[in-house]
Amino acid sequence: MRRPIIAGNWKMNKTPREAAQLVLELRDKVKDAKCEVVLCPPFTSLAQVITLVEDTNIKVGAQNMYYEENGAFTGEVSPIMLKEIGVSYVILGHSERRMIFKEDDELINKKVKAAFLHGLTPILCVGETLEEREQNRTFEVIKNQLEKNLDGIDAAKVEEMVIAYEPVWAIGTGKTATADDANQVIKFIRSEIRNRFGDSAADKIRIQYGGSVKSSTIKEQMAQSDIDGALVGGASLIATEFAAIVNYEE
Ligand code: PEP
Repeated sequence: MRRPIIAGNWKMNKTPREAAQLVLELRDKVKDAKCEVVLCPPFTSLAQVITLVEDTNIKVGAQNMYYEENGAFTGEVSPIMLKEIGVSYVILGHSERRMIFKEDDELINKKVKAAFLHGLTPILCVGETLEEREQNRTFEVIKNQLEKNLDGIDAAKVEEMVIAYEPVWAIGTGKTATADDANQVIKFIRSEIRNRFGDSAADKIRIQYGGSVKSSTIKEQMAQSDIDGALVGGASLIATEFAAIVNYEE
């Protein structure tokens, strides 16, 4: 049985003061959640959020990192820095990183390797654009991202990681993939993992859906056979809404 995992990606929102307020509001509201709960604040709030969730059921993730340990990489943050402050997860390959910051599949693969090397669990995002979907290229695009992003990763590592299927056209747009559509793509991702990394990896890896997830859509999404959780952007910035999402079983 895979334990569902729901993560909030705050993106470039919340000052440290606002971040602390949101965590203080959330802590109690999510304490009985059956799923694993992860918050991914901006770098400037990571340390404080980690302190505020000590002894709670909330884990913390970063939204990005560089793959080197240290050196002349102005503006970047390394996996050892994240590990030392108590970060557990790191979102890699988010479509905003791929599109706005021009991160390519090779760079993302280096980051996935570096995360594992330093004991961080990657939440690897994959997904097609609207144009690719309209050209019926969804499966081809995702297969290619998985092939390149997971190149050289051991099956034993793959089973520990999280993949987020995030159709780019559904991120921040209010449009969600139907639960059935999302499940079909996630099934395809799991079958690709099975072909390349074997049964154990395919059965254990958790695959989330992301793209305008709300409290009104989460139940149906989580009822699907292969959806193991959600990566939530906008709705994770409102305590009551994110709490309603993680408490979807109530
Ligand atoms: C995201 O940032 O990963 C995301 C899915 O955003 P939103 O929920 O706002 O669409």
